[in-house]
Amino acid sequence: MTQRIWNFSAGPAVLPESVLEEARNNLLSLGSTGIGILEHSHRGKAFLAIYEETEALVRSVGDVPADYKVLFLQGGASTQFFQIPMNYLSSDRTADYLVTGAWSEKAEEEARRFGKTHLACSSQDKNYSYIPAKCSFSANPAYVHYTSNNTIFGTQWHNLPMVSNGVDLICDASSDIFSRPIDVSKYAMIYAGAQKNLGPAGVTLVLMRDEMIERGAKNLPTMLQYRTHAKNESMYNTPPTFAIYLVGLVLKWIKQGGGLTAIGERNQKKAGKLYAYLDQSRLFKPTTALDSRSQMNVTFVTGDADLDAKFCSAATQAGFDGLKGHRSVGGMRASIYNAFPEAGIDAFIEFLKKFEAENHKSP
Ligand code: PMP
Repeated sequence: MTQRIWNFSAGPAVLPESVLEEARNNLLSLGSTGIGILEHSHRGKAFLAIYEETEALVRSVGDVPADYKVLFLQGGASTQFFQIPMNYLSSDRTADYLVTGAWSEKAEEEARRFGKTHLACSSQDKNYSYIPAKCSFSANPAYVHYTSNNTIFGTQWHNLPMVSNGVDLICDASSDIFSRPIDVSKYAMIYAGAQKNLGPAGVTLVLMRDEMIERGAKNLPTMLQYRTHAKNESMYNTPPTFAIYLVGLVLKWIKQGGGLTAIGERNQKKAGKLYAYLDQSRLFKPTTALDSRSQMNVTFVTGDADLDAKFCSAATQAGFDGLKGHRSVGGMRASIYNAFPEAGIDAFIEFLKKFEAENHKSP
């Protein structure tokens, strides 16, 4: 087999090798069924067992309260951007959006099709390089929406936005779901595309309070009502069976590794090592405010676009892939989700040091 390289992709992203091996072993025959995992009916016993186990794993790993539903939906997190306001916003109401990056901008834009929006905070003034310290909410918002980790800009909320009691807080956790302990009970809804921390592309995990599901609009196409999926165990139509299976394997891997507390500590250590190097570097510097740094996406620059490009191409040649920053930030972005190993961080820091020694010119 071709040797695997260090994959810093922002998503789809690296998955645990043991998970990939187990999936490979079940491609031609899931256990002793004689039918591969991709080929099993979603209504059959074998897949139903996988579905139930995966749902139970989401509940146990995420400590999901009993009055929440676990849904596996399709259409990506981007579908949630409009499905949420379609269900919970109307022309006579206002929803509050905390705008800390391109994805929260997109979510807010979609909401405007269905009702009024209010920007409770924004960090656009400094190209989304920080998380605002204060929010100013509208009087009676239909809900408050925020993005817990800003994949493109490399910032992350380290405290929950302080919403008033009784206000529904909705979180797009696409790029940091289950990367650290989370108190689900503080949210009315959490959603995340699986392709960064949980599995492959093709499934969106939604955790939603039962009471909120009940309140959703009823005059919508069946597929766009959350209650449809809640009532049918996410099987109103054919679910993305293989993606759900892989999410189950990744969750098992997280659980065996000590759950969210342990993975949170590992992620903190990994990101901490990389930021510590960047902070003392004379060539590279992080692009984000100290108190807002993401543990998932580490963004940094040299300050010279040509040198950034030279770095990215040298890194690719040395076996470090996916480091080119998003065009709206430039420079580099190292995405180091749950499955990115600490050994890859150590190897990368050695490479950064070497590049710095060869390319830093003393002033
Ligand atoms: N939200 C965030 C924070 C993201 O990082 C992304 C994708 N990178 C999305 C939403 C959009 O997700 P999808 O491609 O699954 O629609």
